[in-house]
Amino acid sequence: MVEYTLKRSRRRKTVALKVQQQSLTVYAPYGVAVASIEHWLQSKQEWIKLQITQQGQLIQQQQQPMQAMQINLFGSPLTLSFATGKKTLVHFVDEAMLPNLHITISTRVQNKQAMYQTQLETFLHDQLESYIEMRLHHFCDQMGEALPSKLKIMVYKRRWGSCNQRRELTFNLLLVSAPQWIIDYVIVHELSHLKYLNHSSQFWSRVNQYYPQYKDASSWLEKNGASLQWKFE
Ligand SMILES: [Zn+2]
Repeated sequence: MVEYTLKRSRRRKTVALKVQQQSLTVYAPYGVAVASIEHWLQSKQEWIKLQITQQGQLIQQQQQPMQAMQINLFGSPLTLSFATGKKTLVHFVDEAMLPNLHITISTRVQNKQAMYQTQLETFLHDQLESYIEMRLHHFCDQMGEALPSKLKIMVYKRRWGSCNQRRELTFNLLLVSAPQWIIDYVIVHELSHLKYLNHSSQFWSRVNQYYPQYKDASSWLEKNGASLQWKFE
């Protein structure tokens, strides 16, 4: 029997259950005996276990590039290989179906693990930067905006981008693992802040004008944001 929390209520007429954050709560009216609740739970075992595992996967879905030997690049897996050699070298083979990144670290480097990570992050940073630069030109042109004064890419914990009064735009490096239509949304979002430094209805209508599927993109980020993170271990 799985563990559960029992919540009784006078108003309730039927027994119900809810799986949230990997734990099970059973709601029941006062008159129902624990034995019959548990008997009923028994018949739901399979379903409950499935819900709990699925939620676990959602929580732990962040990427582990050093273990999995892959990382998502613009929404598709990029195969990684690591080696040591005479020189530190990063070689990107951009084959349509099977893109590969070979990272070679010089045998003279002391902390090879740290160097692999630095090289990988530098590569991802450059990929995202060139994509965003290209799209900034496109969207600024469409929106009649001058190019931002500065473009920065860094790792944020809780935001995808930012914009300030000096027209400096910053984007989260983790976006490099998202599909390009998601990155486009974040670009239009931040560019719309050049006119409205808030989330007013005028702001959202500007986003909508230049990126009509913004609601899909923002709910994609809400659902999948955690999977864009990576950790080195
Ligand atoms: Zn915003």
